[in-house]
Amino acid sequence: MSVLVFADSHQGKLAKPTSETVYYAKQIASKIGGSVHVVTYGITDADSLAKLGNYGAEKVLVSKSVTHSNDDQLTALVAEAVNATSAKVIIFAFDPMGKMLAPRLSARLGAGLVAGAIAIPEIDGAKFTVRKNVFSGKAIASFTIQSEVKIIALLPNSVKAVAEGDSPATVENFEPAIPEARIKVKEVKAISGEGIPLPEAEIVVSAGRGLKGPENWGIVEDLAEALGAATACSRPVADIGWRPHHEHVGQTGIAIRPNLYIAAGISGAIQHLAGVNGSKTIVVINTDPEAPFFKAADYGVVGDAFEVLPKLTEAVRKFKAAN
Ligand code: FAD
Repeated sequence: MSVLVFADSHQGKLAKPTSETVYYAKQIASKIGGSVHVVTYGITDADSLAKLGNYGAEKVLVSKSVTHSNDDQLTALVAEAVNATSAKVIIFAFDPMGKMLAPRLSARLGAGLVAGAIAIPEIDGAKFTVRKNVFSGKAIASFTIQSEVKIIALLPNSVKAVAEGDSPATVENFEPAIPEARIKVKEVKAISGEGIPLPEAEIVVSAGRGLKGPENWGIVEDLAEALGAATACSRPVADIGWRPHHEHVGQTGIAIRPNLYIAAGISGAIQHLAGVNGSKTIVVINTDPEAPFFKAADYGVVGDAFEVLPKLTEAVRKFKAAN
């Protein structure tokens, strides 16, 4: 029985969660006795695809004709790959592309879907029990999928991908006949700027209203630059136009799960926490020792962001220069 992974691509490169989804698929394939296949598109560098073999992929199917922005055609591509590989389990990353494609494929195949899984499923015959966060990460629920074909969208940074082998995957061109798209994409506007995309960042430096105004963001950007981090902000900061909306994290913004989240001058309202409480380590800098964010923090600094952030930046730069 085959497990199929859909791997998204950005500008000719595999999306960051791919090693996690392939490793995750391999864990399932080992339990049910099958192999892992990957379907992707728009990547010409066969070596990078072959390296997915290290995480457990046996074969990678790559289409050159399907384009990034057309989810209608991408869904058809994955459905054709399901047919070609006789896959009974399909894995997506629970990122914007996975959120778009997994429900479409679920409807098309009549397959049960768990969106936002956080752990490898427990498998009992044809029944998969999959855990996911609910109530904005306040609780964990277990869902069972009993349909013949099963789809799981894995929350990025939930499972650590371990390179277990050193055998390259076979890479094959995959160009099934896909009907003309019913949806025409007229324009794609990419977010400008050269920084690290927030959803993919392993380290995020974030700030809130405690920074007093947009002119003070230099100290946030300096620390982010020293750490190789992305920048983020609380919602009011984006609402009043101090920072762009694509930096807003929380219940109504982007949900992120970096390895390190540094929050300066953010109170830690429940709606903010909903988007960041999956972070592996949280550091909070706030002048108010009663700020709610300290309850969710792994490390807390009661202090003025205007003093603490530049000192942290200096310390990081010194450390990097010495190591
Ligand atoms: P404040 O609450 O004003 O907190 C500023 C903090 O900075 C304070 O704790 C203060 O002690 C500290 N501070 C002040 N000066 C300094 C200094 N010099 N150094 C260090 N610390 C200092 N919010 C989100 O962020 N994301 C969301 O997705 C979101 N969705 C929402 C959805 C709904 C339906 C609603 C009702 C609200 C939502 N909110 C969201 C808003 C949320 O409730 C809070 O109002 C918001 O997160 C507060 O932003 P803040 O912490 O930047 O500002």
